[in-house]
Amino acid sequence: MGIDLSPNEKQCNFDCLYCELKGAKTVQIAQNVPTCKEVINALLEALQKHQNIDVITLTANGEPTLYPYLDDLVDAINKIKQNHQLLILSNGSTIGNRAIQSALLKIDIVKLSLDCATQKSFKKLDRPHSSISIESIIEGMKTFRSIFQGKLVIEILIVEGINDTKEEFEALNLVLQAIKPDRIDVGTIDRPPAYDVKGVSMERVVELSSHLVGLHVNIAYKKEYTQTKRTFSEEDILELLKRRPQSFEDVKLCFDAISHQHLQKLLDEKRLHVKHIAGVNFYTT
Ligand code: SF4
Repeated sequence: MGIDLSPNEKQCNFDCLYCELKGAKTVQIAQNVPTCKEVINALLEALQKHQNIDVITLTANGEPTLYPYLDDLVDAINKIKQNHQLLILSNGSTIGNRAIQSALLKIDIVKLSLDCATQKSFKKLDRPHSSISIESIIEGMKTFRSIFQGKLVIEILIVEGINDTKEEFEALNLVLQAIKPDRIDVGTIDRPPAYDVKGVSMERVVELSSHLVGLHVNIAYKKEYTQTKRTFSEEDILELLKRRPQSFEDVKLCFDAISHQHLQKLLDEKRLHVKHIAGVNFYTT
C-alpha cells in the first residue's frame, strides 16, 4: 500500500531525465503536503478495508524525505502498522542528513536510488538541486548503513548513453562494495520518461549487472524477456553463486531442467541456501 506524501504536485530535489512525472524545477523542501493527521487517518481507514497488505510504502510525486514531518509520521505509522513492514522509496539525496537518518532508522526497508557513481553522469541523469553532490550521497549511504539494522536496498536505473557503460558500473561496484546494501535492484526505463531518453535492452542490463560482484543483485526483468536456457554442473552453480548470488527469477530464466536438478541436490546437501531479502529470494553459497 503506497502513501503519497506529495499528492498535489511534483516536489523533488532531482529532475531525473527518466522521471515518470513531468519535468519540474527542483525544490529543497515539500510545502504543499498533507498533514500527519490526514495521512494517519487515511491509513487507518485503508488498513481496515484492506487486509492483504505486505508492505506500507512511503513514496511521493517527488522525494518523500522532503516531507517536513517525516519523523513524526514514521513514529505514528509504527504505532498503527501492526505486523506490516514499512518501506520508503527515496532518491537518496538526503541520506547524509542526521535528522533524516534518525527518521529512516525506524523504517524496516529503506530503498535508495544510486544511478551513477560519478558527479558528471549524476548531474546529467538525475539533474539534482545545485546543493547536492554524489560524493555526499555516497558518504551518507555508508554512514547510514553502519547504523541501520533494517534492510537497505539500492536501486540503479540504466539510461542509454549516460550510465550504461562498463566504466560506470565498475565505479558503482566499488562504491557498492563500501556501502554494503542488502540488495541492489537494477532496471531500465519501462514507462514514458519526462525527457527524450531511452532505456537499454534487457541483455545489456544483465551484462552491466555482471560487474556488481558478490552482491545480491535483483534484475527487474521485463515480462516478455526470455533467455536461452543453459546447463550448469554442480561446480558451475557453486562458482556462479560465489561470484554473485542468483535471484529465483535469474534461475528460472536461464537454468535448464538438468541445472535445476543439480541446484536441488546442492540445496538438499546444504551446500547452498536460500536468502530472503525484503521480498526477493536468492540462492547463495
Ligand atoms: S527522484 Fe524520482 S520523483 Fe524525483 S525527479 Fe527523479 S524519478 Fe522523478
